[in-house]
Amino acid sequence: MLNLNLNLINPVTEELITQIACDDERSVKEKFIQAELFQPQWQAQGLDHRLGIIDRFKTALSLRKEECAETLMHEVGKPYKHALNEINGTLTRIEFFQKNVATIMASEEVFASEKIRESISYEPLGVVGNISAWNYPYFVGSNVFIPALLTGNCVLYKPSELTSLSGLKIAEIFHEAGLPKEAFHVLVGAADVGRMLLSMPLQGFFFTGSYKTGKAIADAMAHRFIRTGYELGGKDPAYVCEDVDIKKACDMLVDGAFYNAGQSCCAVERIYVHERIYDDFLESFVAHTKSLVQTGDLKDEKTYLGPLARKEQLAILKEQVEDARAKGARVLYEAPKPTHNNAKGWYFGPVVLSYVDHTMKIMRDESFGPVIGIMKVRSDAEAVALMNETDYGLTASVHTRSEVRAKAILEKLHCGTVYWNTCDRVSPNLPWTGRKHSGMGSTLSHLGISAFLQPKAWHMAPA
Ligand code: NAD
Repeated sequence: MLNLNLNLINPVTEELITQIACDDERSVKEKFIQAELFQPQWQAQGLDHRLGIIDRFKTALSLRKEECAETLMHEVGKPYKHALNEINGTLTRIEFFQKNVATIMASEEVFASEKIRESISYEPLGVVGNISAWNYPYFVGSNVFIPALLTGNCVLYKPSELTSLSGLKIAEIFHEAGLPKEAFHVLVGAADVGRMLLSMPLQGFFFTGSYKTGKAIADAMAHRFIRTGYELGGKDPAYVCEDVDIKKACDMLVDGAFYNAGQSCCAVERIYVHERIYDDFLESFVAHTKSLVQTGDLKDEKTYLGPLARKEQLAILKEQVEDARAKGARVLYEAPKPTHNNAKGWYFGPVVLSYVDHTMKIMRDESFGPVIGIMKVRSDAEAVALMNETDYGLTASVHTRSEVRAKAILEKLHCGTVYWNTCDRVSPNLPWTGRKHSGMGSTLSHLGISAFLQPKAWHMAPA
């Protein structure tokens, strides 16, 4: 019997969406055994067969995208149009994997003589576990389960407890598309179910979530010699040089900071601005922020901001703002809470802070919400030093008219992704990879396909 023990709450209405049955030790074990027994068959069925199923999944997801977007909107409070964007973006990522998987999986002969031929073949890992985050369940989930399945692995996928309904929907669409149930299982539940999954003899494990959880899991997994990947948090900086078009830079950075209510791993969380344009930049940034629409109706096309998905995050953000204020920061703008629904909903900000510095939590700790600190700098060298002064290393952006100047700065940054005049952007062609507390390994790109394969070295000597 499954326990009925997860309450899913709508972040806008604060009302119960539904109660959901969680997995338990027995069901997790059963799902693992089914996957393990089926995996050799899934591998043997070949890439063309798997490509066909993933293609049918893509078609089915496309046909049901409105319904999926609606569920996601209710679960995490994401504006409907943004939920739909996420699913459309996922379809594009699936196409990337479809196009590239054959090349990455192909065996290579690397040496041949009369006496010996040497080649490398690539095999799936086996049964792969994936514990995921709630902020972009379709994106971060599909970065793992699509290439893992295509390369012949079976997958046990534990979505965040907040997006359990989306996780179940993904499984339903997979099975509707003809993917055998044994190849892809969803595990419903929170940290305890995550721990049950980790106790299984997995052959690969991929995690997306916070540094705190990632570290706890990495500590527990340290003795297991299996392939792991960790995509963790960020405190991503942007540097605005004095030569920019201020309005254009603000357009870009307001969106980078506040899209998805700032709940993106690669959201812009710190901005450094050259002293020559600091005051003008602040004025323009606040004006842009004020124009963001927070109607309270997530289906309204005009709505840009929703509430936070997690109630507990409200206290964390308030504390970061209070800490900054107490240490001398100025609150330039704090949006009023929307009054619809009798002022219900886990709304926060956006909040814009100036005169911040690195003694403040707002410039050091991941915020994961719509709050931003903007700091004045005197030179590129100072900006580089401050951008690198962080435990995280996910992304960083530089905004200037000069490509030469941008490259000189970006080369010095200790992070996995760098942007010139853009930010908060993910491409399936490029590796998504963190450094330091932002994680280890890569998803997306050719690296995000080979992550699910293990090499076999062939030494073949004709008799
Ligand atoms: P979280 O760490 O709270 O939870 C992530 C997942 O881990 C959830 O499924 C949760 O149920 C599970 N979990 C929690 N404790 C566990 C434990 N002890 N053992 C096993 N499983 C456990 O993170 P979140 O709030 O879901 O997501 C937000 C975080 O994820 C942010 O820090 C964000 O930056 C990060 N994130 C990173 C990326 C990236 O690509 N780098 C993408 C999305 C989100």
